[in-house]
Amino acid sequence: MNSASETPKYSFIIPIYNEEETITELYHRVSKVMSRLDGLVELILVNDGSRDKSLKLIRELHQKDPRVCYLSLARNFGHQTAVTAGLNFARGQVVVILDADLQDPPELIPDMIDKWRQGYEVVYAQRLKRKQEGWFKRFTAYLFYRLLKRLADVNIPADTGDFCLMDHQVVNVLNAMPERNRYIRGLRAWIGFRQTAIKFERDPRYAGEVKYTFRKSFSLALNSLISFSRVPLRLSTYLGLLSAGVALLMALLVLYWRLHDPNSPITGLATIMIAIFFLGSVQLVCLGILGEYIGRIYEEVKGRPLYTLGEVGGFHHLTKK
Ligand code: UDP
Ligand code: MG
Repeated sequence: MNSASETPKYSFIIPIYNEEETITELYHRVSKVMSRLDGLVELILVNDGSRDKSLKLIRELHQKDPRVCYLSLARNFGHQTAVTAGLNFARGQVVVILDADLQDPPELIPDMIDKWRQGYEVVYAQRLKRKQEGWFKRFTAYLFYRLLKRLADVNIPADTGDFCLMDHQVVNVLNAMPERNRYIRGLRAWIGFRQTAIKFERDPRYAGEVKYTFRKSFSLALNSLISFSRVPLRLSTYLGLLSAGVALLMALLVLYWRLHDPNSPITGLATIMIAIFFLGSVQLVCLGILGEYIGRIYEEVKGRPLYTLGEVGGFHHLTKK
């Protein structure tokens, strides 16, 4: 089916990190949708350095169904990088990204394709509700998306994940972007073209644990803020100005007390300590913010590849070259 002459019309990209419990059901549900579509579909499973039986299951699926292609990264590179690898290999005219845990219902894909037919190059899914996710995750996600919306240079729609459909034109632009910090939702918004949302209620995870630990989510949030906004840098300038203002006021106060009040309370050690700590912390915060940006420049300058591939299955046109 996946012969060299036949390029697929649709590519579905699914990043997989320790998802042995969901893969079978995932394949079941996605292949149902695949068979309803009007063109050939390639299902690209990207194994992001899983430590469980995921890769074995993926290989089996590939043996059984030639529409299944897979990439296996040499270690865990993270969700955004896994999706990027999939995008680099996708051949379809239409590319769909979805999560492995069935939180993004594959049954929504035909509706997305309808929108694409109406002329939209990007159709992203917007969550109306998150079912059965803890209050902490919902609250922090709510705050983060609002903050990002206020601070970012581009309009990144709130409550959207990576679940989306993109025309190959958009994918080409994404693939040509050399940056290492890949916050795909942001890059996708930056690219432009005609974009539209499709609303859905996010299901709970089918099985297994959330692979995005708090640390990973936090670092994704920080990365996206820094990649799409320079407001934090300006913030350090404002902080500096503020502390200069406070220092000036204090100087005036001391002068006033010196001249008019011989029992001035300002002579104590505590005041000096507070001033030192205040200034010190302002400086450290500013340094930290600067450091975040410089660290990213350093990452970009090194120019290492985004990921290393351990194993590739399918994609016959690539092996033919
Ligand atoms: N994932 C990945 N690499 C990682 C973490 C997660 O490829 O380091 C995949 C995971 O297998 C799933 C998707 O990214 O398909 C989303 O992960 P998860 O459901 O844990 O996060 P959520 O977005 O639901 O919080
Ligand atoms: Mg999930």
